[in-house]
Amino acid sequence: MRTLLLLAGLLIADCFSNALLAQTAHINPWEPVEVGSLPPVASINDGLWLKGDLHLHSRHSQDSSNNSVAKIVAFSTSVGMDYICISDHDNHAGGDVAHHTWADPEFKSDSLLLLYGAEWTTARGHAVAMSSRPYDHQRIYDVRDQRDIVIQAVKKELGIHLSANHPAGKNPFLFSYDLVDSIEVWNSSVWTTNTKAVFIWDRLLSSGRKLTGRGGSDSHHGVPDTPEQATKYNIEATQNYVGTPTTWVFAKERSSQAVVDALNNGRVSISANPYAPRVEFYASLNQNGKMDTMMGDNAKSTGNPVDFRVQLSGIKAPDAVYTIRVIKNGDSFGVFKATGKEPVAQFTDTPARLGRTYYRVEVEGPPSEYPQVPESSALSGNMVGLSNPIYFNFDPNF
Ligand SMILES: [Zn+2]
Ligand SMILES: [Zn+2]
Repeated sequence: MRTLLLLAGLLIADCFSNALLAQTAHINPWEPVEVGSLPPVASINDGLWLKGDLHLHSRHSQDSSNNSVAKIVAFSTSVGMDYICISDHDNHAGGDVAHHTWADPEFKSDSLLLLYGAEWTTARGHAVAMSSRPYDHQRIYDVRDQRDIVIQAVKKELGIHLSANHPAGKNPFLFSYDLVDSIEVWNSSVWTTNTKAVFIWDRLLSSGRKLTGRGGSDSHHGVPDTPEQATKYNIEATQNYVGTPTTWVFAKERSSQAVVDALNNGRVSISANPYAPRVEFYASLNQNGKMDTMMGDNAKSTGNPVDFRVQLSGIKAPDAVYTIRVIKNGDSFGVFKATGKEPVAQFTDTPARLGRTYYRVEVEGPPSEYPQVPESSALSGNMVGLSNPIYFNFDPNF
């Protein structure tokens, strides 16, 4: 009996010591580790800036008015757009956008790049699906209420870029953000409604997700051709239309695929309209005065200081003073003023040698007039544009 009790005591003691041992020896396999060597950053000179709008509704969306595909294409061309993605609601076509928007004889242009897209319209939120080639949208429509893991597999098979729309709007995005490649941080000309979307973006970036921020007008209504065609929504055509806001991408070439590639890699900034200054954000990793990295790029931190440069292109009013706010890891890092024909702000900081760091910028200043959508600039207020982040030590295999 004594032997048995002793044995039991030893067993209990053994269990305790094992438990203690297990606790102290615990290794979290998801703990961030030092990232190894990262792929080299692409040349910052090898490409061209293209501007466009990635969230537009034509007459193939039932909640649109006076907005034929031809009208959108003609307008976009007239204001100098390089690309557009007409994203009609798939639920209005039972998922079959290929035989509605894309098969419309007006869906063509000699100069404008037309992405194949649709707004995936579901009970759990909306997202623009887009591609440089036609794809079978019906398939992602059919799985819209399935588990995210099922949707992810279909999305991967289709090879599409999926982008969360108005994530904190009245149709909030309730899927996992791991399903999407970008997020609409600026929806429509009314800038102030986007604060929560930007907040969500910063939280996702802070968690190690390298996620591109983009804009989209989400415009539905065109100017009527005749007074008889007028609807109560006419006013929207003068407040919010193609280009409010405008998404700029630094593309390798003038092609739809290069636009999608840039959205994937994050070389993207957003401006209030096509005439507002474009925000460009660069870094010089070895402080030799030559910029070698730009927004969207992910560089390895050496523990040495890095020079950063924000510049505004396409200035219409050289006297205007712009306020450039730098955000580092979701928090305000600094505020700079810039003016002149080529406004520039420069700063230096040392990204942590271990762990992730990101920097992005928001620019405020006097609104740029957009005569073709005359009431939009007042709605955007002083918001001029915003950049995507420059990333350090983000794990590409995350
Ligand atoms: Zn929507
Ligand atoms: Zn929409």
